[in-house]
Amino acid sequence: MSHDFSSRDDHSLLPPTSRRGFLAAAAGLAAGAALPAATPSLAKAPLSRSQPGYFYRFMLGTAEVTVVSDGPLPLGDPGDSFLGVPKDTVYGMLESNFLPKTNVVLEQNIPIVNFGDRLVMFDTGMGFSKAFGPTTGRLLKSMEEAGMKPGDIDAIVCSHAHIDHIGGICSADGKPLFPNAQIYISQADFDFWTDESKMGGPLKAFVAHARANLMPVRDKIVFFKDQQEFLPGVQAIAAPGHTIGHHIFQVASAGKSFAFLGDLTHHAVLLTENPRLEFAYDSDPKQAVQSRVRLLTSLAENKTPVMSYHFAWPGFGNLAKAGEGFRYYPAPMELVKV
Ligand SMILES: [Zn+2]
Repeated sequence: MSHDFSSRDDHSLLPPTSRRGFLAAAAGLAAGAALPAATPSLAKAPLSRSQPGYFYRFMLGTAEVTVVSDGPLPLGDPGDSFLGVPKDTVYGMLESNFLPKTNVVLEQNIPIVNFGDRLVMFDTGMGFSKAFGPTTGRLLKSMEEAGMKPGDIDAIVCSHAHIDHIGGICSADGKPLFPNAQIYISQADFDFWTDESKMGGPLKAFVAHARANLMPVRDKIVFFKDQQEFLPGVQAIAAPGHTIGHHIFQVASAGKSFAFLGDLTHHAVLLTENPRLEFAYDSDPKQAVQSRVRLLTSLAENKTPVMSYHFAWPGFGNLAKAGEGFRYYPAPMELVKV
């Protein structure tokens, strides 16, 4: 009988049959596998496997802000996207914040501000592009969940012309999805990212998606300038580096305001706690660092709340100086209206 024990490949005290069951269950959990369909439910209700709508509302002065999501955008290995320090430093920052090391997932938080006389939407998500997988492109679905109609949007304000910001303006067959909206963007970004001569180079995918979304609405596009209040309550502030014409926006109503950050910082930990980190998608990483440090310093000093496009849902909070960088304090969500 002793050879039976010596042939066992572990020293578990569990009997062989239980051990197999335990290991199988552990393997299933490790792989994130769902319970087998045949598992009988002993509870009075089945697992729901659903979530609430992907929208969140709060007031800004007398304006109502509805944040809708275009869905999570997985960037993959952060060591390939966040540069300027050893990979292990990036992994360590994520790990100490209880975030996965192997895949950085960005949200796409799109605020739609109802000023009372107009609805203004900030950025539009990936649209029909699946360059970052299947979880993006749910803007219209999120709006429907929030009871909002595309035809009610008066203005779309774009921080820059990257695919995850202008991607939701038109359908795959070139039809404008927001038929009554003027589109606001910087001329520098429009010119750079719709430039047909770049179609043969490394930026091809970005230029193709920018052209697919911006050219069909070319006659609806209005260019804003740095510091210009181009819509009542919406002021452009140049933040170049991520792209040549990247802007953030000061959004104000009845004495309250927030800054819509666009891609000034993509991550509440990585580029915020260490704003000198460089991001692989920056057109000019050094200039992006300068803009980030300068503007985050000003927002922190003025205690201006921030609405961040890529931070964890819903992306609204405050920034404060912390060491060489900044700490993000998410605002508590308020889900009871009084
Ligand atoms: Zn982005």
